[in-house]
Amino acid sequence: MKILVLNCGSSSVKYQLIDTDSQLALAKGMVARIGMSGSVLTHKPHDRPETKVSAEILDHIVAVEYVIAYLTSTNHGVIKDKKEIDAVGHRVVHGGEEFKESIEITPELMSTLRSLIDLAPLHNPHNIRGITACQKTLPGIPQVAVFDTAFHHQIPPYAYIYGIPYVFYKRYGIRRYGFHGTSHQFVSDRAADMLGRPITDLKIVTCHLGNGASISAVKGGVSVDTSMGFTPLEGLLMGTRSGDMDPAIILHIMAREELTLHESNTLLNKHSGLIGISGVSSDMREISNAAHKNSNAKLALDVYCYRLKKYIASYAAAMGGIDALVFTAGVGENSSEVRALTCENLEFMGIKIDSKKNMTAVGMEMDISVDDATVRTLVVPTNEELVIARDTQRLVETRKKK
Ligand code: ADP
Repeated sequence: MKILVLNCGSSSVKYQLIDTDSQLALAKGMVARIGMSGSVLTHKPHDRPETKVSAEILDHIVAVEYVIAYLTSTNHGVIKDKKEIDAVGHRVVHGGEEFKESIEITPELMSTLRSLIDLAPLHNPHNIRGITACQKTLPGIPQVAVFDTAFHHQIPPYAYIYGIPYVFYKRYGIRRYGFHGTSHQFVSDRAADMLGRPITDLKIVTCHLGNGASISAVKGGVSVDTSMGFTPLEGLLMGTRSGDMDPAIILHIMAREELTLHESNTLLNKHSGLIGISGVSSDMREISNAAHKNSNAKLALDVYCYRLKKYIASYAAAMGGIDALVFTAGVGENSSEVRALTCENLEFMGIKIDSKKNMTAVGMEMDISVDDATVRTLVVPTNEELVIARDTQRLVETRKKK
């Protein structure tokens, strides 16, 4: 099947057209700056160079129309007609408690999806905009929603309930949901394959370290705890997000600086984390480069790795052991420095990496442990789009069989 995978943000649409038989991305790209001046589409067919085009792209419908036009164009296309697209798989950030797995989108379901906007006002409205755009642009083509939260739906109540009055869970659904589920699922499955053992026998800690970052405890193939919470703000230090902190701090700063709710939200989500501590960048490459000459960049790097180390050990405790530790996403796949600093002093729990292997493992699957380490430390490139494409195919085929 040919599945168009879409990840829609407020001003962007990222896409891949995936052939699920060959597991190849036939083309991938992104529309950026939707609704702003200087909108641009970047399109890369798998067998030809990247092309960039500037255009006036005022909304998500026009963005999807551009994507289809490039996928089917004579010079840059990879299919002849949009009818060759068998289905569309959408990344939807929040599935709440309603959606424990991916679902095919029906008109009735759109209203349930809309009811979740309250839980994820920064993400879900844009995901819904992408779905509506495809309903207009690709009428009759099945669409599937794949939720970032779904893989974490079996986290037990003692791991998802916060220490605030229980009534807020009942009234507003305030609990840990967790995100990056497709990535944690993909890399834990790959880790089991690499180790040649059934995932049902394994206790795996997966570290997804991109611009956003989260860590999960995956026991027997099931996520039993994860660091992101009610929103993606909790947990690890991230590029621009604070991660864990004393909740009283924000009340204190709001009072002292007379910040509004909106300003406080922006402070925690956009101006904190690596950029907040270092004042240099939210990009780990720039933090690494600056760390030897800038003490705040070094501090940001140290806070990042120290917190990650604490989470790894605590998730081993949560599972009663650990067989494998997995690093993935931009930082996890590429930064041997972050992996080395994080794993330092974890020998007591069986984590011991080989520095030469660690230096070699850049953007590729590799076991970087020393030969006699009791815990295998693995680098596994993630592929969230492939998980979305496979789930979309599975749902569409199941419905056709009925
Ligand atoms: P996103 O969350 O946007 O999908 P990615 O998984 O692409 O993010 O990760 C992006 C981050 O990966 C960048 O901010 C950068 O800090 C980091 N990164 C990419 N390459 C390297 C590298 N070679 N060394 C360190 N960090 C890297």
